[in-house]
Amino acid sequence: MAGKEKDSKGKKQHKKHKNAPKYKNYANGKRAKTFCPKCGPGVFLAEHKDRQACGKCGYMQAKAK
Ligand SMILES: [Zn+2]
Repeated sequence: MAGKEKDSKGKKQHKKHKNAPKYKNYANGKRAKTFCPKCGPGVFLAEHKDRQACGKCGYMQAKAK
């Protein structure tokens, strides 16, 4: 079992993905986008000029201004 000492240094370190694309919609702790009321949390509504739409179920709502 000699010669295996370098394993301790050869291990990969787990990096934290603090800037993972998945979380880009949570800027400053608040949601930048709205969830689809039909599909539930996790499905964002696509931003349009004057409305928001769900690409999954086709739900659409006018943007309040
Ligand atoms: Zn939907």
